[in-house]
Amino acid sequence: MLKPNGNYGNLKDSYLFFGISKKVAAYQAEHPDMPVYRLGIGDVSRPLCDVVIKTLHEAVNDQADGATFRGYTPECGIPEFRKAVAGYYARRNVTLDPDEVFVSSGASDELGDILDLFDASSPALVTQPAYPAYVDASIIAGRKVNFLNAGPDNDFLPLPGEDTEADLIYLCSPNNPTGAVYNREQLQQWVDFANRRGAVILFDAAYEAFIEGDYPHSIFEIPSARTCAIEICSLSKTAGFTGTRLGYTVIPKELERDGMNLNAMWIRNRTTKTNGISYILQKAGIAVFTDEGLEQLQENIMVYKENARVIMKALDAAGIRYWGGKNAPYIWMACPDGMKSWDFFDLLLNKVQVIGTPGEGFGSCGEGFFRLSSFGDPEATKIAAERIRKIVTADK
Ligand code: PLP
Repeated sequence: MLKPNGNYGNLKDSYLFFGISKKVAAYQAEHPDMPVYRLGIGDVSRPLCDVVIKTLHEAVNDQADGATFRGYTPECGIPEFRKAVAGYYARRNVTLDPDEVFVSSGASDELGDILDLFDASSPALVTQPAYPAYVDASIIAGRKVNFLNAGPDNDFLPLPGEDTEADLIYLCSPNNPTGAVYNREQLQQWVDFANRRGAVILFDAAYEAFIEGDYPHSIFEIPSARTCAIEICSLSKTAGFTGTRLGYTVIPKELERDGMNLNAMWIRNRTTKTNGISYILQKAGIAVFTDEGLEQLQENIMVYKENARVIMKALDAAGIRYWGGKNAPYIWMACPDGMKSWDFFDLLLNKVQVIGTPGEGFGSCGEGFFRLSSFGDPEATKIAAERIRKIVTADK
């Protein structure tokens, strides 16, 4: 008899975003004329930049003309796209062979799909609080998940100890939800640990474009990472592609485990399980990595960074401790007076109509913390930040 994948039964219900939208809908039904201010979203709000839009239009026109029409594209990526990504890494002195770059339709898809490369008996290590996909994708694949807790004691940047149990290590830097970013020395510790153990790091670099200090944007800026890491990245937050969908994954050619080459295995996986990514989108991706594209996308990132500054200023004025905000679009604040994160959510929604994200939704060690996002509208962000300052100050 056919048996369904019983691992689905091991997933915990994800109450976070469902719980938020249910509470907001109930509030709005009771107060239909009251505007709400959203600092909870992880989605971008600015439109795609001009050069990307122009390229998308041109690529659509290519598809209307027999002379330029493109059918299936190569499964691992159009060579020009793979070269464009390698060129982007070269700007930071990271040398990649374009054949080490694989196009994808976004980081979420890859975070789950990449698990095909590893035997389900190899446990995963997730630093918590964490983006929920790491845990859920691992559980669906039947993998045991170990946790390494982050907190104020390690500035939300946990490091491996000799007794850390890990074969597959998820690292996210800059981090969602904490906004914390590893420095070179800290990432070197992870790389050395992974090489010693024969583990593989899955490095989620979805927020690298928000880094402004001297922090690594890529795990491959760290010596010896090529023998122990895979990098998963996306144009979602870099260039506003959340609804357009495009990303890339880097697997070095020397990455091998047990005599098997992971780059070669991923070619086999992609050529079996995909038929490539849209020609139109890859053309737009190539435009992102031109000088013009990289300059234009900074304009949107600067808007988000200004939002982050507005939020941080309000928290400073209220005497609230927080992490992130400088190298990431997220600000991770301690709830005032030791409040629980859902209680603080209720307080903000009901008293000042501001919506944020309770830290508990990112894992139990997120309890007592709260995520504010800088992806919203600048005017709404200013109003929301001032309201948070006032309520937190009044609450003291
Ligand atoms: N990784 C992290 C840490 C994220 O926060 C997100 C989205 O919010 C993703 C990956 C998924 O990005 P994508 O839109 O490329 O699927």
